[in-house]
This record gives sequence, structure tokens and C-alpha cells, in this order.
Amino acid sequence: MKHKDALDVLQNIYGYDQFRGQQAEIIDTVIDGNDALVLMPTGGGKSLCYQVPSLVRKGTGVVVSPLIALMQDQVDALRALNLNAVFINSSLSQQQIRETERALLCGEVDLLYVAPERLLMPEMLQLLDQSDISLFAIDEAHCVSQWGHDFRREYLALDVLHERFPEVPRLALTATADQRTREEIVRNLSLADAACFISSFDRPNIRYAIHEASNARDALLNFINDNHKNDAGIVYCLSRKKVEDTAKWLEERGKTALPYHAGLDADTRANHQSRFLREDGIIIVATIAFGMGIDKPDVRFVAHLNLPKSVEAYYQETGRAGRDGLDASAWMSYGLQDVINLRSMMQSSEADEQHKRVEQNKLESMLGLAELNTCRRHALLAYFDESVDNRCGNCDNCLVPPETWDATEAAQKALSCVYRTGQRFGVNYLIDVLIGKDVERIRRFGHHQQSTFGIGEDRSAAQWRALYRQLIARGFLSVDVGGHGSICLTESARPVLRGETPLMLRKLNTNKSSSSNSKRKQQARAIAPENKKLWERLRNLRSTLSDGKPAYVVFTDNTLAEMVEQKPMTSKQLAAVSGVGKHKLEKYGDAFIEVIQDYEMYADMETDCESDA
Ligand code: ADP
Ligand code: ZN
Repeated sequence: MKHKDALDVLQNIYGYDQFRGQQAEIIDTVIDGNDALVLMPTGGGKSLCYQVPSLVRKGTGVVVSPLIALMQDQVDALRALNLNAVFINSSLSQQQIRETERALLCGEVDLLYVAPERLLMPEMLQLLDQSDISLFAIDEAHCVSQWGHDFRREYLALDVLHERFPEVPRLALTATADQRTREEIVRNLSLADAACFISSFDRPNIRYAIHEASNARDALLNFINDNHKNDAGIVYCLSRKKVEDTAKWLEERGKTALPYHAGLDADTRANHQSRFLREDGIIIVATIAFGMGIDKPDVRFVAHLNLPKSVEAYYQETGRAGRDGLDASAWMSYGLQDVINLRSMMQSSEADEQHKRVEQNKLESMLGLAELNTCRRHALLAYFDESVDNRCGNCDNCLVPPETWDATEAAQKALSCVYRTGQRFGVNYLIDVLIGKDVERIRRFGHHQQSTFGIGEDRSAAQWRALYRQLIARGFLSVDVGGHGSICLTESARPVLRGETPLMLRKLNTNKSSSSNSKRKQQARAIAPENKKLWERLRNLRSTLSDGKPAYVVFTDNTLAEMVEQKPMTSKQLAAVSGVGKHKLEKYGDAFIEVIQDYEMYADMETDCESDA
């Protein structure tokens, strides 16, 4: 790289050996005073792209972030590196704000975090006029896009930075990949001349698994117990009620699960978020309102109990797992009702025609991903116009290729049952007719005398449900919104009905736990069994030292894992561990070395006389 002082900063302050991916190039570009647009997946290492140039260039780096609630944590993490990081927001007193302004004017501040609405206040802009600014970092830059789901009006006005501070380099950063958002960022923030850095959006450490389950909650509990027993995770549900119910249900089964949704008061939300960040092994059950910008690096799993509305949303939400690069899971369970709900939601949408078509396409892609028989990662990345090998080896379909069956004949029966009963009924009724159930309602409509009555006796109701789900997901059937979820045939059902198109479908997974993860147990952290005890001790030490701040502010799991492996017993050895910079070595080094020495000295004795739980 061009600027060697940037590498010095990385090694001495952060304790990392080398830059990753495009970091070096990006940092060089900004140090030279140029603008940059950075698209990198979550966990890719965006923060260093603006932090390092801020430290190398003269003046304060100004970070624009919409996430006021997280500024304290971001600043704490930088202060733990002995950097002078500050934020200005409404949580500060007038006195604190004045003190921060003074420090800024004196050039004492390395990094300043502000929300856009604060930055745009005339007095703030005047303050910046009088200060020495090294760069502007516009974090979560996709908030400037009106198409995305995180649009914030204030972001549009950030264009003023370009006019008012033409000499100061600007970096826009986001983990949102699609072309449309990218174009809008460039246009709305006047970044036409910016160098554009687009990283691969693959997250190889995340294992994707999506499957159907009639009892999603039980499947979730099995998945957690089998793979992530004491790990932190996020469980997404669509409704507030389901969030509350699921959290309570998990609590009753011995998990620490906290609800999070917009209906809870601000204090409760803040408290739950803070516990999630600070304590180990907490599960947050949330609506999508939770998670943007959450910097917690060691979220080990993200689970969905409903289908998200789009592949973008799925990618963003699952992306919150495994930011530290260690193994993590993205797990989803969905059922017939999800497919019906989403389909009818789209059909009843009040949006204009064009917008509706966009929504419809997004939904189709999500359903396609869910019903897929081949590599999930391949499909996910193809959605973002990125091509990778056909088999990733780290998704459910690659690990245990799904069995398929020739569903042509069964599909004909299912479809003709819809037709013969007049396209007026929901799935439950149709299944009753197919399996020939003797119920009053069927007699009342006279459907017990029809040719389709009982022609599906050979299959179980659950199998028919799965088949209807697949037929709806593939668009052979549509859901009539006005008619209480009654099912109708679509044009594309014709060739199937006539037997012109053979239909190969995925077999219903009858295995109770139905999680391919449980077959091949995922080792979340590569901690060897003989090192588990030391690992736990170092984690305990870390929480003692963290003093109410998130534990990763002291050291990340990655750094602890390396310590456990290398067992450094001197300051010099410890300094060689990734993530141990000068300041942290001084501050925490002795405490960690002491625990490791102690452990090494008594390790043999302990394994002899203790039985490890
Ligand atoms: P993003 O903001 O893109 O989601 P972060 O900036 O939070 O990602 O980085 C994710 C993790 O990777 C952090 O724990 C960070 O310290 C670590 N990291 C970033 N760059 C490097 C590097 N060059 N070497 C080692 N670790 C790194
Ligand atoms: Zn795969």
C-alpha cells in the first residue's frame, strides 16, 4: 500500500497484522483526499476504512450515523483503543456538549459521531467550519435511497457537505448491494467522481438453512439446542404478538429470550438491546425493527420464524450473524400460512401498479429461494448479480441434497380438486375433499359425490399441505384475498393439469428435528474440547473487565480464541495475538497472562479430578 503510516496504525493501535480485502486501497484513496463509495457486506470491515484515514490525516473524522442508540458503544470501542472518540447527540447535557465542542475546536478529537439531523443544524455546521476536518464518513449510506426500506429524509440534505466542504474527502458506506440503491447513493450524495469499491457479498462463514416445518417453534428449539446452546442469537417474527409469545415460550424452556418490537416502551427496548450487547448468550426475539447497525460481532445465529418479504431483507437480517467471521447460522422455518399471507398481502397492496410489480418480483424471488433444491448461496448471490461456484458446501441443500419426487400426478389431483370445487375454498377444505373426509360441510356442498373426493387417500394431510404450499409458491395457484383465502387456478396451472409439464418437487422432510444442521453438528467456535475450560475463564475475565460495556470492547471472541490456542505467557507473545494493540496490551495484558499461566500450571491436576460438564 502507498501509505505506510496506515499500516502502522493498524498494527499498533488495532493489533491486526494486515488489511483485508479492499481496505488498503480504500484507505489509500481517502488519505489522498479522494471520495469513495464502499459496498461491503456486514462484517467486511467497513469501520477501519474511515477510522484509519481519520487517524492518518490531520483533523477530526466526522462519522454520520443514523443510530443514536449505538453511538455510545461505538465510541466506547474506540476509547478502549485509547483514541479520543466522541459523539454529540440529545443524550448529552449542555455542559457535555460545550466540552465536546471545545475539544473539537482545539483539535483534540480523533473521531466525532453525529446523526444527520444534528449535523445539519446551522450551529453544528458553523462549528465544523471552524474545526479541522479530516473526512466525512456517511455510514449506512443506503438510507439516502427512497426505494430501500431504511429511507431517512435527512440523508438527502447531506449533499450540503459536498458544497460546504469541497476539500474534505467523503466516504459513503453501506452493506446494501443492489444496483438501484447504489445509483441513488451516487446521485443523491453527488458522488459521481468517487472511486467505487464493491466487495463480494458472500458471507462464507454463514450456513444457510431453510425448511418447512409444521411446528416451527419446536424446530427452532431443537436447532438452538443442537447447534447453539449457549450462544447469542436473533429470532425474527413478523408480528408483535408472535414476538411476545415466542420469547415467553423460549423462556419457559430455559433460554434467556427477550422481546423487542416497536410496541414496547423505549426504556424496555433500550434495556433489552443493552443486555443483548453486554451479556453472553442472550436471545433477542424481534420484529424487523431490531438490528440495523447492531455492532455485536458474536451473534451466532439468526433465525426466521416467518418468510421475509424480499431476498434483500433476508440477506440483511441474516447478515447480522457472524460479523466476526466465525461460523454462524442463518436458519429459517416457514409454512403454508406464510406463503398464503405474503401472497395475499401483495395482492391487496394499495401501491401503484409499478410499485406493485416490483413488490411482486421481490416476493417471487424470496419464495423461489425458499423452495429451491439447489445451493442457496449460489441463488442468493446470483440475486445480487454475483456468480460463485454451483455448490458452496455450507448450506442445507449442499450438505444434505434434498430428495425430489415426481409430483406430476399428485399435482394434477390437487389442482383439479380446486377446479371441481369451484375455486371457492381454502386449503384445509380442499385437503378434506382429497383425502375423502366424511364431514358435514362437504356433504352440504355435495362434494362427496365428486370425482376428486377421496382420490388423495394415498397421501397424508401434511403431505397435501406441503404440496399446496409448493404449488402456491410456484404460482400455479393464487390466493383470493376477497374470498377469505380461497384458492384459484392461474394460467400457468393449465399445462400441469393437462399433464404436459412434468413437475419435480422437493420431498417433505419427515424427520422430526428436520434440521440438516443437527445431522452435521456445526462447531460454532473452533475451540478444542481440552481448551474449553481456559476459554470460559478468559470469557469470565473479559466480562469482569468490561465494566458495564459490551464484552467485545475488551477483546473480541476471535482474539480470545487465538489466545486459547496459543496460550501466550509473556507480554511479547500476547502482543502477537491478532486484536491485541499497544493500549489493550498495557491495560489488560497482565490480567490475561496471569489467567493463562495459572491455567497452564494447574491444567493437568484439574483434568484428573474434575468431570467436565
Ligand atoms: P462492518 O462495519 O463492515 O460490518 P466491522 O468494521 O465491524 O465490519 O468489522 C468486523 C470485524 O472485523 C470487527 O471485529 C473488526 O475489528 C474486524 N476487522 C476489520 N478489519 C480487520 C483486519 N484488517 N484484520 C483483522 N480484523 C479486522
Ligand atoms: Zn450451498
